Amino acid sequence: FFEALENLGLSLHHAQQEAVRHHEGPLLCLAGAGSGKTSVLTARAAYLMAVSSVPPESLWLVTFTNKAAAEIRDRLGRLPGITPSMARRVQARTFHSFALRLLQAYAPPFTLLAEERSRYGFMKRVLRELGLQEQFEAETALASLSALKSRAELPEDWQPKSPLERDLRRAMLRFEEQKQERNLKDFDDLLLDTIKLFEAKPELPVKLARRFQFVMVDEFQDSTPVQIALLEAIANAHRNLAVFGDDDQTIYTFNGANHRYITTFQERYPDAIRVTLDLNFRSTPAIVGLGNAIIKHNQDRLSKTMQAVKPAPASSAGTSQQPYYLRPNDAEEEAMLMIEKIQELKQQGHAYQDMAVLYRSQSVSRAMIEQLTMEGIPYEQLGREPLFYDHGLVKPVIDHLRLSLQPRDKEALGSAVACLYISREQGLRYIQQQEKERAKKYPLVHLASCQGIASFQQEAVKPRIRYIKKLASMKPALAVQDMRREFYDKFTQAASHADSSAYQDASAELLEELESSAKRFDTVEAFIKHIDELAARYDAQQATGSTNARGSRTEPYAPQQQARQETKAKSAPVDTPYHARDAEEADDKLTLMTIHRAKGLEFKTVFLLGITEELLPHRTSLRKKPPADKKAALTEDRSDRSAAMAVTDASRSQEEDVKLQLVEEERRLLYVGVTRAKNQLYISSPVVVHGDKQEISRFIKEAWQQ
Ligand code: ATP
Ligand code: MG
Repeated sequence: FFEALENLGLSLHHAQQEAVRHHEGPLLCLAGAGSGKTSVLTARAAYLMAVSSVPPESLWLVTFTNKAAAEIRDRLGRLPGITPSMARRVQARTFHSFALRLLQAYAPPFTLLAEERSRYGFMKRVLRELGLQEQFEAETALASLSALKSRAELPEDWQPKSPLERDLRRAMLRFEEQKQERNLKDFDDLLLDTIKLFEAKPELPVKLARRFQFVMVDEFQDSTPVQIALLEAIANAHRNLAVFGDDDQTIYTFNGANHRYITTFQERYPDAIRVTLDLNFRSTPAIVGLGNAIIKHNQDRLSKTMQAVKPAPASSAGTSQQPYYLRPNDAEEEAMLMIEKIQELKQQGHAYQDMAVLYRSQSVSRAMIEQLTMEGIPYEQLGREPLFYDHGLVKPVIDHLRLSLQPRDKEALGSAVACLYISREQGLRYIQQQEKERAKKYPLVHLASCQGIASFQQEAVKPRIRYIKKLASMKPALAVQDMRREFYDKFTQAASHADSSAYQDASAELLEELESSAKRFDTVEAFIKHIDELAARYDAQQATGSTNARGSRTEPYAPQQQARQETKAKSAPVDTPYHARDAEEADDKLTLMTIHRAKGLEFKTVFLLGITEELLPHRTSLRKKPPADKKAALTEDRSDRSAAMAVTDASRSQEEDVKLQLVEEERRLLYVGVTRAKNQLYISSPVVVHGDKQEISRFIKEAWQQ
């Protein structure tokens, strides 16, 4: 088997082979980035089938994304002794996709609320029904609900601590009730409902354990409590459980993930075979060195150092052996410099598809996406993010600006209606009817006399029109700032009580970025003209084959989003011979994505954007008061730490402790970003972030100082 593998161009070293040969019983493969964990997992699946004659149906491989599942199936098909049909029969799935299958097979029929948008609309209606629409944004309520469920809590068990939280709980309960009445489930329900199903039908996990004799989990460090429960319900029957992961790459704790599942795996499975891989096959020595130098500053980790085995590449013109650092003035200049570099590499014969641009959040990528779009450079965005200006939080602001110039713009009118807490459909219908009888310069004014809405809503209409008129002559950046206060600040305040910090941070960041963007223009008219041109180009590019759908909205930090996406995007190009390469020029596109989504992937050249203080580490991890939900989650964890840790904990204030953990997660995020690069790495740290001068990320400075 190993010889055949070698002939295909992959010669596994001793420790890797040991893991591949492992047959029954628990296995722990805890190893650094690029050490071949995913390769070993895949090879072991092939070995079990080809050498140990295990039927493909007996394997369940858990991946973190659907894309990774597709890639493993694809790779499997090319390993020795594996026919394409065998590869297809292996269950390579995410937890969510596995649970969905189970529920479809064994639970009463239901409809999946697959679109984030429909979930959002649903919550909006619930909030209106309960008269809470002025207290919470639908996103806030949804994010809070998701945060609870990822910790396997239900709204009925949640103890609200303030009147506001009581209202929030009411909204959550009603949302759940209405979903049940209509036989709907959303992604948060899939795992919890599967656990419930197992409780109701205890014979089911037994049956599944008999079917899935071998279970392997990739990216185990980011598993959540609910996922672990699902896993153990099946795998504990035979204990043929092999987990692969790297505690240094835990980047989803906001989602309930906890790297202690991997670091304590051997306590729960004392008979587990432990395989350590410390050779990094992916990156050049300089990149591996930087990764090591960054992550060693984390305290809460198992100490391991990666050793590069790839030789340093012979230096060629235009490519840099050492990571290349840039310090542009702002995001606009950052995009310009990066694009220059990208074009230079392209001219030297590097393909776009070997390059990836990674960033912490969608806001950070705004300028880059704008410039790529305007210049017509082909790119693909993983994660189906809407165009920045179409984002659910940004669009209402833009629409009000638009309305100040074009009071009859129907789409923009819809936003204005919704911002008055009136149902968009109902409001627009009413306006349309009235317009037929007597057209008004500001059609919105009809709502002031609409019978179907509450009097406080009627009364708000005229002041809002006066407000909109005023916007037309303002500087666009000031107008954005003003609208932020007018529309969002109260929501943000509500959210800060409401256990949904990720959403809150994301929204603040989006609006600040919008302000930065608006600063480039002197008039509202010029700003809107730019956005229209950008949108037209963006749509034209999307129409030519990319998987992005403009307008399908997702939140940058939305929990489980990553696992949810059924991305049809092509697998990351890798240059090992057992990988199919699709180098068609027409398909040659740059990849853009958040670092969170890049986990497990690799690219020849990686560009990291926004590696500046306040962006990475993100300011939320630096501010004094930790967000409520993190605090709660971390306090609970305190109990299961080792005694030694507890002593140091006692001498540290709890707040500092939480802060440290948040900063460490940020450091891991940078570590994940850096270790995606195979040959070249460009790190950019813009000076001005949302109007303030900031230092280069402390994580980079620490790494330089040794
Ligand atoms: P991550 O932690 O980022 O998920 P990983 O540990 O899963 O990384 P892989 O993606 O499996 O690492 O492997 C990294 C790269 O190293 C891949 O390109 C893979 O083909 C290559 N590789 C793995 N093992 C070997 C080997 N023994 N010889 C040569 N190349 C190898
Ligand atoms: Mg991997």
